[in-house]
Amino acid sequence: MKISKRAQDVPPSATIAVTVRAQQLKAQGVDVIGFGAGEPDFDTPDYIKDAAVVALKAGRTKYTAAAGIIELRTAIAAKLEKENGLKYTPEQIIVNMGGKHSVYEAMQAVLDPGDEVILPTPYWVTYPEAIKLAGAVPKIVQTDKKNSYKITPSQLKDAVTRKTAMLLLNSPNNPGGFTYTPQELEDIARVLEGTNVYVLSDEIYEKLIYGDTKFVSFASLSEDAYNRTLTLNGFSKAFSMTGWRLGYTAGPLDVIKAMGRLQSHMTSNPVTFAQYAAIAALGPPAGEAIEKMRKEFEQRGKYMTERLNSIDGVDCTESTGAFYCFPDVSGHYGRTINNVEINGSIDFAKALLEQANVALVPGLPFGCDNNVRLSFACSLEQITKGLDRLEKWLSQ
Ligand code: PMP
Repeated sequence: MKISKRAQDVPPSATIAVTVRAQQLKAQGVDVIGFGAGEPDFDTPDYIKDAAVVALKAGRTKYTAAAGIIELRTAIAAKLEKENGLKYTPEQIIVNMGGKHSVYEAMQAVLDPGDEVILPTPYWVTYPEAIKLAGAVPKIVQTDKKNSYKITPSQLKDAVTRKTAMLLLNSPNNPGGFTYTPQELEDIARVLEGTNVYVLSDEIYEKLIYGDTKFVSFASLSEDAYNRTLTLNGFSKAFSMTGWRLGYTAGPLDVIKAMGRLQSHMTSNPVTFAQYAAIAALGPPAGEAIEKMRKEFEQRGKYMTERLNSIDGVDCTESTGAFYCFPDVSGHYGRTINNVEINGSIDFAKALLEQANVALVPGLPFGCDNNVRLSFACSLEQITKGLDRLEKWLSQ
């Protein structure tokens, strides 16, 4: 039977081969150290789980408004105003089934075939596929290590054409934890003034920032920025709620309404009792619960970055957010290690897994074949053990 052209064109995840092989090795009893995790290694805080149980027992088990209950949209509006300096009405907010769904639905709502979306490297693997599924074209802009892997105003200016419909910004970012400074964002905002370009600002890692890094929401920079921005956020990362599938989008009323129409036919509402738990998540215990995780990530990230930079031929730009390091390992490309030639990030990841039992993610699917991604969403003990192995493997 036939498979649609659309589905045929979606490639299987390029990272899956390493993950599957790591699982096979583990099943054979091999002690594999995994740096592949894309989610916090902490459990969802109890105060959130308790709220879900209360909601379930109170019979919050039926359909709600497709865009989410008004109480949650109101709580998100209050959060965005208090923490991000953004004034949105609850009607300008839609609750989606995870941030991934927010990305997909926002693109379906505003992009037409042939539109271009400016996508700076390194990018989260889902973005190019979501762009293509909307019929649009990813216009990939290769960023430079010397600019800490961030798009510059002049690169942006060069990339904008009559067909540009959107700029994708993700700060702090996956896969490198790279975070734009408020000044850098202001410079980007200025380039876009006078254009019809939307900004999709994926702020899902806003709470996980380190050192003296400052987070600022793109839409808060100016009225012009506010009017062109779709602010995307969710509960997965800050609240360690990846399995609950809760994300949200805030933006111009007509865009959010369009997303609501799509959502009403695609999925209907996010899980009802999870929405009640999300209201609780945003409540007073949030500060302490998030800070506990953030501190732990900060310590691990600092350690991982220092260790990586102490290895010959490995160059890790500081991770200022999220829970990833994205070192350049191309200093080792062209080498042969234990009879295996290393000519790119996929070779690197495969050989490291087979020979030293460390699983990490190749940079190629993120648009940077010189790099690999290591998550520090695992214990300091695991990080130490894994980096010892990596160092020893590379020193052969
Ligand atoms: N944006 C980025 C940059 C991410 O890394 C992720 C998770 N990998 C998401 C959005 C979506 O997360 P979720 O669908 O769990 O909310």
